[in-house]
Amino acid sequence: MNRVVTRFAPSPTGRLHLGHAFSAIAADDYARTRGGRFLLRIEDIDGTRSRPEHVETILADLAWLGLAWDGDVVFQSERLDRYQAALDALKARGLVYPCFCTRAGIAREIAAAGSAPHGPDGPVYPGTCRAVSAAERVARLAEPHAWRLDMARAVRQAGLLPWHDEIAGEQVADPAVFGDVVLARKDAPSSYHLAVTVDDAAQGVTHIVRGADLFAATHVHRVLQALLGLPTPVYRHHPLLIDADGNRLAKRHGAPTLESLRLAGADGRALADDLRAGRLPTGFLARKD
Ligand code: GLU
Repeated sequence: MNRVVTRFAPSPTGRLHLGHAFSAIAADDYARTRGGRFLLRIEDIDGTRSRPEHVETILADLAWLGLAWDGDVVFQSERLDRYQAALDALKARGLVYPCFCTRAGIAREIAAAGSAPHGPDGPVYPGTCRAVSAAERVARLAEPHAWRLDMARAVRQAGLLPWHDEIAGEQVADPAVFGDVVLARKDAPSSYHLAVTVDDAAQGVTHIVRGADLFAATHVHRVLQALLGLPTPVYRHHPLLIDADGNRLAKRHGAPTLESLRLAGADGRALADDLRAGRLPTGFLARKD
């Protein structure tokens, strides 16, 4: 069997909290106990929300927890040409189209329609720009635009999309419930879905250990793997930590950041061992999303 490769892939848009620690430890330990490699990838394609100071804090927090990644830290902001190449391959096959809609325009259209199908990420894009003619597309390409996957066409081309989750069992991807997802944004040359799929394959990730909140997104990643001819890793979506009120840990719910615990003098390695043993700090629980 290939050597196991896992990764932790935080977005440097805020401080890490206990949920991130739990996830990083799960991915690290999965590789370590199997003689594999654990990688760190900073998902900083969102130029408006990503901050270098968050990157520094992430590195310090992981070291404090006693985690060490193999090889160099990979930054998505340095890999934009790879995402562009993947998008170009999909463009050449007529699987993506430019979308000139604004958020407000989409919301108006959905409101006017009275009802809209809901996907895991909210209301499904009504497909307005899918109907724009080829000539009009070319004429309007100077306008700000995103690129969307023509999901119906993609699903037809991709065929059956099996994947395996070590906790949830065998799955068959149903990405159609997401509708025509954005693969390149107006303000960023890639979306999360495209970048994560390209990078996990390029970095040889064999096992994706991450939170159950990303379970549904795997359906989109699976169809992109099929379209781009990339291997499908094994997945392990772990339960999320929640607080005593049932809220997912997040800054807005007052979850302590790892940085605040670190600066207060807490022992990061002891905390990591507690999380490993399922001993959660008072007031926190693990549950499946
Ligand atoms: N960057 C994503 C996040 O911070 C995680 C990506 C992944 O694990 O696939 O939520």
